[in-house]
Amino acid sequence: MFSIYSKLSFKTKIMFFICTITISVVTITLQIRAKQVDIILKERMSFRTGVIADIISFSISSSEISDKPFLGKYSKFILNEPEIEYVSFYDKNNKLVYAAGNYGKKNIGFATENIFNVDDNFYDVYREIKGENNEKIGSIIVGFPTQSMKEALRNHLFTGIIIWLFAILLIVIVTYIGLTCFLKPLRYLHEAVINMGKRNFDCRAPISSNDNDEIGQIAKQFNVMTEELQSFYKELENKIEKAVDGLRMANQKLEKRTEELSKLNLQLKEMDKRKTEFISIVSHDLKTPLTSIIGFADTLLNKRLNLTEDTKEDFINVIATESRRLSRLISDFLDLTKIEEGIFEPKIEKANIKEIVNRVVEFINTKSKGISIVVESENHFPLMNLDEDRITQVLQNLLSNALKYSPINSIIKIVIKQFAEEIRISVIDQGIGIPDSEKEKVFQKFYRINSDISIKERGTGLGLTIVKFIIELHGGRIWVEDNKPAGSCFIFALPI
Ligand code: ADP
Repeated sequence: MFSIYSKLSFKTKIMFFICTITISVVTITLQIRAKQVDIILKERMSFRTGVIADIISFSISSSEISDKPFLGKYSKFILNEPEIEYVSFYDKNNKLVYAAGNYGKKNIGFATENIFNVDDNFYDVYREIKGENNEKIGSIIVGFPTQSMKEALRNHLFTGIIIWLFAILLIVIVTYIGLTCFLKPLRYLHEAVINMGKRNFDCRAPISSNDNDEIGQIAKQFNVMTEELQSFYKELENKIEKAVDGLRMANQKLEKRTEELSKLNLQLKEMDKRKTEFISIVSHDLKTPLTSIIGFADTLLNKRLNLTEDTKEDFINVIATESRRLSRLISDFLDLTKIEEGIFEPKIEKANIKEIVNRVVEFINTKSKGISIVVESENHFPLMNLDEDRITQVLQNLLSNALKYSPINSIIKIVIKQFAEEIRISVIDQGIGIPDSEKEKVFQKFYRINSDISIKERGTGLGLTIVKFIIELHGGRIWVEDNKPAGSCFIFALPI
């Protein structure tokens, strides 16, 4: 029972409650009313019949009680009264003198019956007829069958039941309509709450200007609350989104950093390897020219050998070449140390780049490989702020590399070209070229590409590192491209 009750809607519950109370009240009222009608009707009937009996008993004299024709006429007059159905007259010994009317009653009682307690279907009123000296001269019984009275009461009860049913119907309809109107805002509120539960914060409980009762106030408060909740939720979503974005970015940064670190780690390992190689190269390279310098110098100093002038000159040439290589090695090494310590300072002066290029080309020895160097340039270039010695060093380095990696009898081209904000100098050879994967790496410290030429031509892997550093010190940049069909093209750009 309780479970059924708990499943009912709020409206049904209220309706059930109101209908139960109202119907109970109406039922009790109608019942009381029916009882009252019953009492009133019976009292009235009893009173009326009593009054008629009284009138007869007072109006009949001692001579008239035995006058049957008179009694006959009198009876007719009495029976004209509505409800009264029979009348009978008795002498002083209760012996029947005259009886008139629909006399259905068999046992006559000489006492007035109680209308509320009649034991058969007739109601009698008994009266004694008194003489002048107040002695009993006869008696009268007036009565009627209770059938019609009961019928009237039944009719009344039936009408009462109809009214009762009608009242119930009316109560149910009125309660239903009233509750539907009254609970409408609550229904909207309920729908809004359900929508809000589904995170649909756009819904509002509809309020009209007349909704100033408690439910209207609740609906207004609810709308205010929903708005606040909506903005709070939006703010929260934004914050979460920002936090997630932040986390995503931090994560990306972390991933990038990890990648960089692992790259750095690889570079460090590579550098470490290269440094070990460098130390062995440097020590080997230092030792090799030194050994030949010492050997040739000792031979020259040995007076007992009687060397010819030509041989002596050859030996001195070897000593000079090896000394130059030694000097280059040492200066590369010193430059690198300066770069790493941050004390590599350029001496900037106004200079003409074309002149520097021509000077470097003039002094470079290309005869051994039969290589020719061609310079392509416009006639005039603006003066630039340069460290002439360092730019010379750059050109020497690039040209010596180009010579190293070029085949015999090939051409090395130097192109000088002016752009809006910079002058670009390209050193183009027809040599072995540089694979794409190595194009950036060749500028790293101690980095050398393993090739037959690089093994034969001993180097430190420092030349291009120093070149890049010098160019960047001038605010420029350097990169390498492929030369079609073969070779490489080192380009450096210097700002005007
Ligand atoms: P080194 O010449 O002393 O080995 P560099 O820093 O000058 O060191 O050059 C680094 C590497 O770049 C060289 O080992 C070589 O493999 C490559 N390289 C440089 N210039 C050229 C070039 N013009 N053609 C082909 N390879 C080159």
